[in-house]
Amino acid sequence: MAKKKRYTTSFGSPVDDDQNSVTAGDPGPVLLQDVHLVQKLAHFNRERIPERVVHAKGAGAFGYFEVTHDLSKYTKAKFLSKVGKKTDLFVRFSTVGGEKGSADAERDPRGFAMKIYTEEGNYDLVMNNTPVFFIRDPMKFPDFIHTQKRNPATNTKDPDMFWDFLSLTPESIHQVTILFSDRGTPKTYRHMNGYSGHTYKWYNDKGEYWWVKYHFKTAQGIQNFTRQEAEIMKGKDPDHATRDLYDAIERGEYPVWNVEVQIMPPKDAEKYRFNIFDITKVWPHGDYPVKPLGRMVLNRNPTNYFADVEQSAFCPGNFVPGIAASPDKMLQGRIFSYHDAHRYRLGANYEQLPINAPKDPVHNYQRDGFMRREETSGHPNYWPNSMGGPEPDPTTAEPQFEVTRKAGRHPYSHPNDDFIQPRALYEKVMTDTDRDHLIGNIVDHLRNAKKEIQLRQTAIFYRVHPEYGTRVAKGLKLDITEVKGLAKQYK
Ligand code: NDP
Repeated sequence: MAKKKRYTTSFGSPVDDDQNSVTAGDPGPVLLQDVHLVQKLAHFNRERIPERVVHAKGAGAFGYFEVTHDLSKYTKAKFLSKVGKKTDLFVRFSTVGGEKGSADAERDPRGFAMKIYTEEGNYDLVMNNTPVFFIRDPMKFPDFIHTQKRNPATNTKDPDMFWDFLSLTPESIHQVTILFSDRGTPKTYRHMNGYSGHTYKWYNDKGEYWWVKYHFKTAQGIQNFTRQEAEIMKGKDPDHATRDLYDAIERGEYPVWNVEVQIMPPKDAEKYRFNIFDITKVWPHGDYPVKPLGRMVLNRNPTNYFADVEQSAFCPGNFVPGIAASPDKMLQGRIFSYHDAHRYRLGANYEQLPINAPKDPVHNYQRDGFMRREETSGHPNYWPNSMGGPEPDPTTAEPQFEVTRKAGRHPYSHPNDDFIQPRALYEKVMTDTDRDHLIGNIVDHLRNAKKEIQLRQTAIFYRVHPEYGTRVAKGLKLDITEVKGLAKQYK
């Protein structure tokens, strides 16, 4: 039998009794000199850290990324350098709008974030289960999220806020159509895909570069709840997807995703029919077929949820040599926002927490700050120095690229048709059942908003496809002539 550990205070001295506070006699008042009691109560008061403002409810697991196809001519990223190479990773799945105790079965995009612990530092892919997003400029993000959360006066979810913003933001329609399909209520985290959404840059040793999008396709197959099944699950087990992931891994049923990429030469991007950095659009498979790259396997559960899942902190700007940012405005905004959120939520030294720390030691001249766990010598703490401190390595630089446009507040400059791709989805990709469920899911939600908002949003559905708008209008008992009139405002 394992030797029992001695219970200690947090400063390491033995605890003699953990059931009876020190009192002056029986019953007697409690004495402040009971250091163990005081520490225990004080620490308990400090157990919670700020909740993530988005993606608060999540589940995580460890595993690995394995290269199955050689795409090293496109990128010098070492973890992608040869077939068979495996790199450890940690993944956190989440919902977006709900609080930490909210139900896993809510209609919401799902976060699909990972930290790949490569030999050249952490590469984070901070993805969703949908290939597009509601907005394409980070300026709109805080407003958008406010509308998906609670009304500041009533502290309840507010269908008027939710649909008011979306109906005034037609670029959201592609993502709204996916969200209100049954893909908006995935059956579990194991049964959904992950998409980078953003475009990234891959570059090789010769300084050539390409634009890239990632697709993580579930090997378990896509499975979704219907609206009715999701409603039941929310009440029955609000943690069903968290539980499912944990239990599957405990049973040895390790979930797998096949990883594919779309690759576009930069010359194509200049003349493509829409702005390829616009995250409200996908790159059609017909133009840019996916190429297989690897697979992701999740095979180990965390043993301490707080340490590993709650304290995990991802950033879409954590790149390794061979991978870099694109001009996607949402990506550029996120590159700032994520580190900033972590500094607020976890503190300036959050990258030293074991779940966030790179596997190879960090060497730089950042020093001190709250909760610093110094791994390297404190001296020297400046660069340049002649004391043998770590030196920058220019061979790892991203190739230089040209930026020649005028600074200003520019909308995306390519012709913007926000309706072509949701139309293709509605008309060509969805089955009759998918369409029936889509209309039912929308009507069930939008009916709770004010009539003028219903009309404005239904006009957008109509602009995507007359049948789509007409069916929603019918479900909501709206006047179709009014809907058609409003739809005319969209080019
Ligand atoms: P394709 O017919 O080649 O691709 C359609 C893709 O849509 C499928 O490969 C599948 O991607 C995905 N899909 C299938 N059923 C559904 C559904 N019910 N809800 C959402 N997505 C579904 O055509 P295109 O590439 O030209 O795309 C047509 C439309 O499909 C797009 O406008 C977009 O709305 C949607 N789509 C496209 C993706 C892309 O990257 N091109 C990715 C996902 C959706 P998967 O295997 O990834 O599930």
